[in-house]
Amino acid sequence: MRVAVVGAGITGAAAAWALARDGHDVRILEQFELDHGRGSSHGRSRIFRLAYTEPHWVRLAREALAAWRALERETGETLLELDGLLELAPTELDSSRETLDACGVAWEPAKPERYGIAAPDGWSALLQPEAGIVRADAARRVFLRGIRVETGVRVESLDDVDAEVVVVAAGPWARRLLAGTGIDLAVTETRETIAYFRHEPAVAAVVDRDAHGHLKYALRDHVHGLKAGTHMSGAPADPDEPAGPDEATVSAIARWVAERFPSLDPQPVAAETCFYTRTADESFVLERHGRIVVASPCSGHGFKFAPVVGRRIVELSTTASG
Ligand SMILES: Cc1cc2nc3c(=O)[nH]c(=O)nc-3n(C[C@H](O)[C@H](O)[C@H](O)COP(=O)(O)OP(=O)(O)OC[C@H]3O[C@@H](n4cnc5c(N)ncnc54)[C@H](O)[C@@H]3O)c2cc1C
Repeated sequence: MRVAVVGAGITGAAAAWALARDGHDVRILEQFELDHGRGSSHGRSRIFRLAYTEPHWVRLAREALAAWRALERETGETLLELDGLLELAPTELDSSRETLDACGVAWEPAKPERYGIAAPDGWSALLQPEAGIVRADAARRVFLRGIRVETGVRVESLDDVDAEVVVVAAGPWARRLLAGTGIDLAVTETRETIAYFRHEPAVAAVVDRDAHGHLKYALRDHVHGLKAGTHMSGAPADPDEPAGPDEATVSAIARWVAERFPSLDPQPVAAETCFYTRTADESFVLERHGRIVVASPCSGHGFKFAPVVGRRIVELSTTASG
């Protein structure tokens, strides 16, 4: 089958890899160069975790873990660094421990100070050992191996794309592109800010969460040491209008980082932006309309699932549309 994938972010790359493996004739159309920083997939690391409070995400993350490991074996690349996630929450009820128990996922009560981390008195702290980071850039490049990518090609109308199936993996540009064909993608694009600090964390990832999800997070970065951000703090924005990091958000991240990592220099060494394409309940949109397959797995937590999302896109692409 001749498949065109719009977008060479992690979703388009994973989809193309899976489609090519099944023998399909696939090409990616990408509007920028491969390592551009204007979408959602750039950078060196993303959190990988099984620690969710909803069992379906835990199951999907487990499936993804097996798929990442299979990809590593096949390509000889190290893509996951799993030396643990420290999850902090005001109460045990806010933490993921009950769901992890129900799903049979290992975790242990943790002492944050053992990792040089300070948490408020009385907070719940758990270590989920099978968690850490995905090497984001490396993962994207591995998926693109052997794939035909046409860079500098911006698809203005899906009607003009010559293919039997068109996978729209266009991140924060997807909603407007799909609107041209009458498909309503219910997402909001927000420009998020992250900051980097010179600090080698003793655990790969740290998150503060409450009953509703993640609030703040920090993870290992192989250039600066630590990358940190505030989940869903960005304002709605247009990805075609570039803008720099939000200064107030950088200051808020620096304050949180100073509180959690008392030994670190709280002066950020770098900051950047990254787009979230958010649904109201943080779910993903994976659906087919005629020859168009819509793939919008973001809401700020989609990277870790890329290999399983790639497989789902193959299933959608090869199943006759209703
Ligand atoms: C700050 C931040 C932190 C995150 N942290 C985590 C984390 O810790 N763990 C995790 O699992 N996930 C995380 N995520 C989410 C994850 O990064 C995203 O789910 C994922 O990168 C989405 O990738 P994508 O390929 O769907 O979109 P994108 O990366 O945006 O890719 C879309 C691509 O399509 C191209 N394109 C768009 N329109 C066109 C067109 N018309 N013609 C041609 N090309 C086009 C774009 O140029 C772009 O390259 C985070 C995201 C952000 C922003």
